[in-house]
Amino acid sequence: MSDQQFASDNYAGICPEALAAVEAANAGHAPAYGADPWTQRAADDIRRLFETDCEVFFVFNGTAANSLALAALCQSYHSVICSDAAHIETDECGAPEFFSNGSKLLAVPTEDGRLTPEIVRATALKRSDIHFPKPKAVTITQATETGRVYQPDEIARLSETCRALGLHLHMDGARFANACASLDASPAALTWKVGVDVLCFGGTKNGMAVGEAVIFFDRAMAEDFGYRCKQAGQLASKMRYLAAPWVGMLESGAWLGNARHANDCALRFAAAIADIPGVSLAAPVEANGVFLNLATSVQERLRDRGWLFYSFIGGAARFMFAWDSDPARVEALARDIRACALPAAAAAA
Ligand SMILES: *Cc1c(COP(=O)(O)O)cnc(C)c1O
Repeated sequence: MSDQQFASDNYAGICPEALAAVEAANAGHAPAYGADPWTQRAADDIRRLFETDCEVFFVFNGTAANSLALAALCQSYHSVICSDAAHIETDECGAPEFFSNGSKLLAVPTEDGRLTPEIVRATALKRSDIHFPKPKAVTITQATETGRVYQPDEIARLSETCRALGLHLHMDGARFANACASLDASPAALTWKVGVDVLCFGGTKNGMAVGEAVIFFDRAMAEDFGYRCKQAGQLASKMRYLAAPWVGMLESGAWLGNARHANDCALRFAAAIADIPGVSLAAPVEANGVFLNLATSVQERLRDRGWLFYSFIGGAARFMFAWDSDPARVEALARDIRACALPAAAAAA
């Protein structure tokens, strides 16, 4: 096994609780296509966690979850308001448009990757003529692509705006657990209690091998969603293996423990690099990611030392921490950044 890297939180493997549940589910035969006891139990666990009688579907990945959820909210002539930093805009290869048969994404610039009621209102009201796709949904990412979170009252204000404008509110929760941990808020307090209609709850980055849950808080919106999943190739025939990890992680509490650990590593890392000359945070650390302004020369030296990382978001170097991030390795990264940054600072002096 190679040394841990922090380029992405999905470099990590499967956490013990998820793996144990898969092994437990592997005892003999079970009915297929979700008619098994594990799928029932996982959906019930999610309903218990969210304290509401929601409708739950398990799919393979986040792109499918987001795309199919948005397709369920929109007709082909509708549009979806999102941040121009949103994963659905930058990293899903047009899947939301594809699965909705053409619902256009209205990707708008934001200050920090987070939509505001003002931006939503201005975007939704910009055009109301027959020649432009009618805005029908808003999507926000919790925690965001740049490691920020929406406070519960910010979501409430967004959903009020959505309701006033006839828009549905979707949440991309690929890192939803990290947001719950960061805000010390219950899943309900960050979703249906503040007006979120549909949540894509990420399991993969939280410690599973594969799998996301699409959660409809308004059951009417889930009508025929099973057919949509099947048509899109997202109905697992051996569904118990997608469902069991949820049972393992929700019933043990690992979903939250994993997220807390990842967030703690991000804070620990941010503290360790805080006093390095020429290195600064590109965004406040509110979840499991740290975005650093690093000179190109420093980035190059860091890569020469074998570190892998992305610098695609506004040029900042991104470091993501996972359920199993090793604090010693986090410290090693911080030390190497210090060593790589000091020559640059000396040359500038
Ligand atoms: C990782 C991620 C997803 C899911 O991506 P897949 O590779 O399709 O599983 C969705 N949204 C955000 C913000 C992500 O970071």
